Amino acid sequence: MRLPKHFPLATKFNALVIALILTTTILTGGLMVYREAGEHRENLLRYGVVLASIVAANSEYGIYTENTAALEQIARSLRTSNAVFVRFLDKNGKVLMEDTFQPVNIVIPTIPQHEHKAGETGPWYTGFTELDGQGQFLSFLAVVRGASAVDPARMFEEVVDSQDKSTGLGYIQIGLSEEALQKQIMATLQNTAFYTALLILFGVAVTFWMTRRITSPIQKLVNATRAVADGRFAQRIDIDSNDEIQELATAYNKMLVRLTDYREEVESHQRTLEVKVAQRTLELNAATDRALELARQAEEASRSKSQFLANMSHEIRTPMNGVIGMSELLLTTELNPRQRHYVETVHHSAESLLDIINDILDFSKIEAGKLELESIDFNLRREIEELCELLAGRAQGKGLELICQITHGVRPALRGDPGRLRQVLANLLSNAVKFTEAGEITLRVNLLDQDEEGMQLRFEVQDSGIGISPEAQARIFEEFIQADGSTTRKFGGTGLGLAISKQLVEKMGGKIGVESAPGRGSLFWFTARFDWALSDNEPVLPLDGLRGKRALIVDDNATNREILEQQLFNWELHSASVANGAEALNQLRAAATRGEPYDIALLDMMMPGMDGAELAAAIRQDATLTGTHLLMLTSAGTCSDDAGIHALNIERCLSKPVRQSELYDALAMLVGSATTALPAPASMPVYLPVHAHVLLAEDNIVNQEVAIAMLEKYGCRVQIAGDGYAVLAALAGKAYDLVLMDCQMPNLDGYAATAAIRTREQEQPGARRIPIIALTANAMEGDRERCLAAGMDDYLAKPLRTGELYAVLKRWHEPGPTPSAEPQPAAGHMVDSPLDAKSLDSIRALQREGAPDLLRKIAGLYLATVPGQMEQLFGAVKQGNADTAQRLAHGLKSSSANVGALALAASFKELEQLGRAGSTAGMAERLANVKSEYARVAQALTEMCTEVSQ
Ligand code: ADP
Repeated sequence: MRLPKHFPLATKFNALVIALILTTTILTGGLMVYREAGEHRENLLRYGVVLASIVAANSEYGIYTENTAALEQIARSLRTSNAVFVRFLDKNGKVLMEDTFQPVNIVIPTIPQHEHKAGETGPWYTGFTELDGQGQFLSFLAVVRGASAVDPARMFEEVVDSQDKSTGLGYIQIGLSEEALQKQIMATLQNTAFYTALLILFGVAVTFWMTRRITSPIQKLVNATRAVADGRFAQRIDIDSNDEIQELATAYNKMLVRLTDYREEVESHQRTLEVKVAQRTLELNAATDRALELARQAEEASRSKSQFLANMSHEIRTPMNGVIGMSELLLTTELNPRQRHYVETVHHSAESLLDIINDILDFSKIEAGKLELESIDFNLRREIEELCELLAGRAQGKGLELICQITHGVRPALRGDPGRLRQVLANLLSNAVKFTEAGEITLRVNLLDQDEEGMQLRFEVQDSGIGISPEAQARIFEEFIQADGSTTRKFGGTGLGLAISKQLVEKMGGKIGVESAPGRGSLFWFTARFDWALSDNEPVLPLDGLRGKRALIVDDNATNREILEQQLFNWELHSASVANGAEALNQLRAAATRGEPYDIALLDMMMPGMDGAELAAAIRQDATLTGTHLLMLTSAGTCSDDAGIHALNIERCLSKPVRQSELYDALAMLVGSATTALPAPASMPVYLPVHAHVLLAEDNIVNQEVAIAMLEKYGCRVQIAGDGYAVLAALAGKAYDLVLMDCQMPNLDGYAATAAIRTREQEQPGARRIPIIALTANAMEGDRERCLAAGMDDYLAKPLRTGELYAVLKRWHEPGPTPSAEPQPAAGHMVDSPLDAKSLDSIRALQREGAPDLLRKIAGLYLATVPGQMEQLFGAVKQGNADTAQRLAHGLKSSSANVGALALAASFKELEQLGRAGSTAGMAERLANVKSEYARVAQALTEMCTEVSQ
C-alpha cells in the first residue's frame, strides 16, 4: 500500500503505528471474547447436566406416585434458575406435568431428539434450539430411577428405542436458556472493549509523542533547506538530539557557511562581469552603428551600380547598334574583296565586343541578384538544331566535326528559358571549338528523369581538344579564372563564361561539371529541369511514307552513324551502317543480289580513302544499284558550291549538322511519298517582303538610319517620330500597321507614349489596337516586363539584328505580295479563317532558309492523310468500336492542331473524350459537324498552298 505523497512524514508514521495498534488490540479483544463465549457454553452444558440429574433424583417420588402437586413444587423451585421449561414423563413417555417459564411458545423437543450423551448414565441433551426469536435454549433429559432399577444404560436404550415402561420410573426434561449466557458474553465484551480502548488511547498518545520527537528535527532541517532554496543562507539549524540527525544538522550548518562564502565570491564576480558587459554593449552599439552606416553606403553603392549598369548598357549598346547594323547593311552592298574583308572584320569585332559586354552585364546582374529566368514554351529540338547550325560554320572552319544528338525519349516541347539554355550551350560549344584543334565535338542531350510536371535533362559537350588539368578543373567555374595564362593569350576570353553558365544552370535546377585530362579532351556536362510546354508545339511528322524503307548509312565517324541510325529507327526505316566506301559498295551489291536493294544511301562527303563523291560515282556506275537514291551529307556551305554533286546524279545534298526535320523531308522526298502529294518547291526568296507601314519612334540619328535601312530592305515604308509627342501626332493623322517604339526618348518617353496610345484606343470604340514593339538598349532585368506592362506587344533589344527584326515584323504583320497602302481591318483576312495564324507562324518559324516550304509540305501531308483517317474514324463509329475511334480521334486532334485547325481539333478532342468513356454514344451526331469543319479547313489550306506558290 502506498500512502499519499502529500501527507507529511509524521502523519504517515502516525497512521502506520495507529493502524498496527488498532489491528493488534482488536484482534486480541475479539479472541478473548470468542474464548469466553466458548467457556460459557461449556459451563451451561455442565450446569444443565447437574441440574437435570438433581431434578431427576428429586422427582423419583412424584413420578412414581404420579403426584402432580409434588412435581409442580419441584417445577416452581426451578423458576429462579435460567430454566425455560420443565417436563415430567412416566416410564412410557406420557407427560405427567410440564411447565414453561417464558412467555413464548416453546416447542419442547421429543425424547429421541436428545442425541448427545453427557456420561455413562446420561443425562442426554439436544443441540441449541431457537427460542421463538428470543435466543436459544438447550434441552436436557434425565432418567428417574428407583431403587430396583436395572442397569441404567440398558434401561435407557430400551426406553428410547421401545418405549418399555418397566425399565425406569420415568423421565424429566429441562430446557435451559442461553440468555444469561449471552448477558455474560456481553459483559465480557464490554470489559474487553473498555480495556482495548484504553490500550489504544495509550498507544496513540505514545506514538504521537515519539513521532514528534523524531520528526521535529527533520522538520527543522526541511525548513532550513527551504530557506537556503529561497536564498536565505543566514539560517542555521539548532538540533540537540544527540544522534545521526544532530550530525546531519552540524554538517548542514557547515555547508551553509561554505555556500555563503561561495555566494559572496560569485556575487563579486558577477558585479565585475556586469561592468564588463556594460562596457562591451557600449562598444557593440558603436560597432552596430558603424555597420549600419556601412550597409547603407553599400546599398547606396549597389543602387548606383545598378543604375550605372543600366546606363552603361544603354550607352554602349546604342553605338554598338550603329556599328553592327551598319556593317551588316554594308555587307549586303556591292564591295570589292578588300572592302568586304574590312567590313567583315569590323562586324566580327563588334559582335565579339558585344559578347564580352553581354557577359559582363550578365555577371553584374547575377552579382546584384537581379537575374531572373523566363518561363515560356519552346522547342528543344529547334533550339539545339539552330545552335548547332550557328556553330557548325566555326567548327568546320577549323576542320572539326560538330555532332548534335538528342537521344530517343527526350520530348522537345518544353517550358523554361530557351535563351539562357542556349547561352550555356553556346558557351560550352564555343569553348570546345576554341580549345580543339582536330577531331570532333559532340553535343548530346540525354533524359535523366521525367514525371507529370516535366523532365530532367543532362547535356554533354565533349571535345577532343587540349583538355584541362585536375587543379584547373577545380577552379574554372569561378569567375575570371582560366585554366592557364598561356591559353588566355592564345585564345582570348574573359574567364566569365563558365562562371555565368554555372549560375544559370543552378537557376535551372541543375548542376554543372567537367571530366577532363590534359591532351585527352574534355567533357562538360550540366543537368537542368524543364516543365512540359503548356501547348504541344512539335509538328507531327507522319511516318506512312518512310515506314519499312531500307537505308544504308556510310560515314567514317561512329557517333554520326549512331545518330543517323537512331533517327531512321525512330521513323521506322530499316537501316544498316558502314564506315567506308568499299564496305558500302559490298553491302549495296549484296543486298541487290538478294533482291532486297537499299532504297536510299546516305553518304558522308568527307571520308578517308574513298570519299563521298567517289563512292557516289562508283554506285552510279554499277547497273545493279540504279534503284538506290543518293543523299549526300557535306560540311556547311559546300552543297550549293559543288557542281560535281549534280553531275553525280546525287538527288539531295544536306549540310551538316543536319536538322531532323530537314533529313525527314529529304528522305520523304527521295522515296517519293511526301513530294508526290505536293507541288515541287519553287525556289523561294529568303525573306518575303513585309510591306508594312511602320512608324519608327527613335531619337538617335544613327539608330534611325540603321532601322530605316533594315525596314526598307523588307519592303516596309517608314515614318520617323523623334519623341513620344511626335508619335501621338503621327498616329492621330494617319493609320500605320505597327509602331517600333524606342523606350528612352526626350520629352515623352516610349512608356508614356504607349500608355497614351492605348488610352486613346479605348476611348474610341471599334478602334484598331495597333501593335507596338519596344526597342530598348537596356537589356536589364525587368525591361521586358516593364514594356509589356506599359501596353506594348513585343520587345526588340538593341543592337537590332536583321533576323530578329524580320521575325517580329512577320509576327505582327503578315508578309504579303502586295504593299498595304491603307491599313487592314483588325486581324485582316484571318477573321473568318478556320486556321489559327499563330500555329501557322510556329510552323513557319521552323522554315530553314533555302529549304522547301515546310508549311506547304505539312499542309500537303495533312490534306493527303486526314481524309483516309477520317474515313476510318467514321467506320469505327458506325461499328461502335470506341477504342479505335478514340485512338483515331486522338491522332486527328493533334495533326489538326498542328496545322492551326483549332476548332476541328476541339471537335476531335470531344470525340476522343467520348471514346475514352468506352462507348461511341453521341459520336455519330458530331460527325456531320466534323465533316463540314474539315471541308473549310481543307479549302483554307489548299488556298494557302496555292497562294504561297504563286
Ligand atoms: P573564357 O572566356 O576564358 O573562355 P570560360 O569561363 O568560358 O572563359 O572558361 C574558363 C577557362 O576554362 C578557359 O579560359 C579555359 O582555360 C578553360 N576551358 C573551358 N572550356 C575548355 C575546353 N573545352 N577545353 C579546354 N579548356 C577549357
